[in-house]
Amino acid sequence: MAASLYPDYPPNLTAEQSDYLLTNLKDWSILNGLAVRPSFSFVSEALDPSRSLAVTAPVTLFPSLFPRVCFEEARAIQKAYNELYALIARDEDWLQEIVEELVDVDDFIANLWNIHLTVKKEGYVQPLSLGIFRSDYMVHKDPSHADSKPQIRQVEFNTIASSFGGLAAKVSGLHSHLLSISAYPPTAPSLITKATLPPNPSVKSISRGLVTAHKAYGPSKAKPQLPLCILFVVQDPENNAFDQHALASTIFEEHDVLTFRLPFHKALEHTRIPEDLTSRPLIYEPPHSPGIIYEVTTLYFRAGYAPTEYTSSKSWEARLHLERSAAIKCPSILTHLAGSKKIQQILATPSSPHLERFLATTASAEFIERVRATFAAIYPLDGTPAGKYAIDIATDPDKAKGYVLKPQREGGGNNIYGLKIPPFIRSLGNDSRKYRGHILMELIEPPALRNSIFRNGEVRSGEVIGELGVYGVCLWQHGHDVAELKTLENWEAGYLLRTKGRESEEGGVAAGFGAVDSVCLI
Ligand code: ADP
Ligand code: MG
Ligand code: MG
Repeated sequence: MAASLYPDYPPNLTAEQSDYLLTNLKDWSILNGLAVRPSFSFVSEALDPSRSLAVTAPVTLFPSLFPRVCFEEARAIQKAYNELYALIARDEDWLQEIVEELVDVDDFIANLWNIHLTVKKEGYVQPLSLGIFRSDYMVHKDPSHADSKPQIRQVEFNTIASSFGGLAAKVSGLHSHLLSISAYPPTAPSLITKATLPPNPSVKSISRGLVTAHKAYGPSKAKPQLPLCILFVVQDPENNAFDQHALASTIFEEHDVLTFRLPFHKALEHTRIPEDLTSRPLIYEPPHSPGIIYEVTTLYFRAGYAPTEYTSSKSWEARLHLERSAAIKCPSILTHLAGSKKIQQILATPSSPHLERFLATTASAEFIERVRATFAAIYPLDGTPAGKYAIDIATDPDKAKGYVLKPQREGGGNNIYGLKIPPFIRSLGNDSRKYRGHILMELIEPPALRNSIFRNGEVRSGEVIGELGVYGVCLWQHGHDVAELKTLENWEAGYLLRTKGRESEEGGVAAGFGAVDSVCLI
């Protein structure tokens, strides 16, 4: 990549320069909420029994060099990606065929699908769905052509709890601030400038998405009418709460809309649907103000994506209860399922007709090819020729080292990499049906850059690689009548750059591997 043209980036700092930069970085981040609760490995529970401490979120000292063509392309195709996944989420027949392949090997997917079937039987009462998506990419460069143009390759597409929109905008703010106070020594050529640090609208744009759904809900359906609110369904405890607070405070300050936080495991305790109302409004009874109740227009799930959150049948009852309510779900069960890794594999199948089928009415053939060009090779592990080819790779250490094996999971820490794939496949035993719950994907190997990461009070410098995420907001109407299938709102909503040490397999910031970064376009 062109970054190798800039071996002196980021510039080396003298002790005084480093001290100035870090002091300002630490102060600015806390002043502006670029913060997380410390992990217990950093600050032990004994030192912070009331969980009252917060520290600077893992961040890079410098914005990382990123090819402008890749950045612009990822943002330019986001609306098409939003449309694609909204269309998938409302094409129940298409989804069903895929999900049915998974239900007998994956209980989590089976349980989600059953919730959809149960609500469908009773009848959905909310025709609108909100998607806050994030499409993640790494830069790919053809190794056989040294001067080939860098391209983006999609790592995955997220349809539930797409996080870091709050902190991403703030880290852009941090790097711009450090530039403005001369914390970055001049480079030759001049790389970090106002023109190379694009503004990041993720907080405002994602917040506006939630408010758009809130307004589209219309007036209260309860009798008597109730004040309306947006409910963030969250994990508890949540180290990344400030990322969510950035959205909540913008929603309140800029749109005057109330939000509350509901731990997923308290959903049954604090919400109810009045039995006698066929419109099924979701009533929220905050534990902090007994007697004052609200109606929920929009359920924003920042939880509920990991099997470990479903500790008993009550958790599934809670997800069903929320799904059958009149609140607009972000995401609905079908949208959650549309984000399965399996769907990404099916879309990426060479010569598959699905992209055309979904996008032909809204995008030109040339544009569809631009979306297709972002796919990396992904294979099923089944009895098809592609599946057999993939099983051969997955059982051979020499071949497997260039691949990653993914189950139908979210949130980081679930994948199996390279040489660990063959023993993992062996551990599944002889029942090859169990393979089907996974997909095999070629590893994207972005060119390494240099940067420094500030994490848990320490600076580490070295070779890093980045993963760009582009957010998308989409509000659509679903139903059984084709005429009802309408996209009401669709926009690209800012970006996230996460950067990790080159040697680390996963890049999750919350999962303990990487840092939040911003781009310096080259
Ligand atoms: P999750 O939904 O759990 O975030 P991902 O598919 O994003 O799952 O994988 C987690 C991480 O693993 C990514 O952030 C990335 O760092 C790494 N990863 C996943 N797929 C690839 C790939 N094809 N090439 C290189 N790294 C990958
Ligand atoms: Mg991911
Ligand atoms: Mg994901």
